[in-house]
Amino acid sequence: MSSIWREHPPGEWQATRTIGHEGVGLVEVPGGAILLVRDGVRVRVNGEPVPGGVRVLDHRDEILVGADRLLFSAQSAPLVKVFALTPDQRPAVCPICRGPVREGMRAVACPGCGRWFHQLDDKPCWTYAPTCRFCQHPTPLDEAATWRPGGDDE
Ligand SMILES: [Zn+2]
Ligand SMILES: [Zn+2]
Repeated sequence: MSSIWREHPPGEWQATRTIGHEGVGLVEVPGGAILLVRDGVRVRVNGEPVPGGVRVLDHRDEILVGADRLLFSAQSAPLVKVFALTPDQRPAVCPICRGPVREGMRAVACPGCGRWFHQLDDKPCWTYAPTCRFCQHPTPLDEAATWRPGGDDE
């Protein structure tokens, strides 16, 4: 799952789930998102126009819609959930221990690639490594470990 950050007021960043502009949309895909821009809407990504109205966003891409400045992040804080099968969800196999993630188990769906990992007291498969082995999303459950604009790495 990705996140969008909006600069408002200048120098301050707020997390948001949507772009919030007419004619501009975001489609989430594993590991990132695709930006869709309707013909005639003025949008720039990293200072460049969006030819054809379609652009694959990378982590930390800057999106300008008019005077609105947004940043795309491929990261969001991981959440421990109680695994429950929904009609559109197949049973999961944990990629770390290769064991089944069963109904009622505590588990984390990687915000980057969507794979399910155990997060049990005696089997913390998700936090076993510092990053997801598939998409490199950081695993700490602490929100502060997730990238946000204006952090030390800028
Ligand atoms: Zn496991
Ligand atoms: Zn992942």
